[in-house]
Amino acid sequence: MARRPFIAGNWKMNHGPHAAASLARELRAGLVDQAAVDVAVLPPAISIAAVVERLRHTLVEVGAQDLHPAPHGAFTGAIAGEMLREAGCTRVVVGHSERRQLFGEDDALVRQKVEAALRAGLLPILCCGETLAERESGAAQRVVERQLDAALRGLPPDQAVSITIAYEPVWAIGTGRTASPDQAQELHAHIRGWLRAHFPRFVADDLRIQYGGSVKASNAASLFAMPDIDGALVGGASLTAAEFLGIVSAASSTPR
Ligand code: PEP
Repeated sequence: MARRPFIAGNWKMNHGPHAAASLARELRAGLVDQAAVDVAVLPPAISIAAVVERLRHTLVEVGAQDLHPAPHGAFTGAIAGEMLREAGCTRVVVGHSERRQLFGEDDALVRQKVEAALRAGLLPILCCGETLAERESGAAQRVVERQLDAALRGLPPDQAVSITIAYEPVWAIGTGRTASPDQAQELHAHIRGWLRAHFPRFVADDLRIQYGGSVKASNAASLFAMPDIDGALVGGASLTAAEFLGIVSAASSTPR
């Protein structure tokens, strides 16, 4: 069965409630026919309620960029998965490279967050990817395997298959430097091979692997034409409706 493309827009720390609501309105107006693609937007936490409100009764899902592993408690400034769910989120990003690099999140914490998301009824978008130094030293595949192993190994297969993996080479995030379709496909195929080795076959066949790293409307189709690239996690280009809609449209019209 063909995997349905999935495009998610990570707004990062951009767009407070006002600007977020107006971008959501533009997306709502522009996404008339997205039957062939799953679409999610991931606003900053403070703007989730405004975006959920604007996208009610559409097929666009709203997700969060992070969660705390505990369901509640004395964790000043943090937000639990259960609260995100209550606010209308269906998905949550876990292990983004900015969280790993700038906030010191390690593989063990990422694993706790994957489990917490699943417990709260949120579908994780699990990010993995190597730095430039790791790629240049030939360690890209090994690094990604380590990240996957920590986050996923031993999960029940029916939960594992509900996760989306976002392969995001760190050197391509926010740099304008996209991995070539062949470079991305090579890692995506490697990830699918890893899944095949550690889970029953349906997990590797059905789990979606997004590419992330400077995806734009102009380069999206060449990436989506690759057999193991099932959509994109989009940062900068998700902040304007026209650009994001161009990526969604590339995903719905690119044959594989
Ligand atoms: C991201 O942060 O997930 C990302 C892919 O960013 P950008 O598209 O801006 O490279």
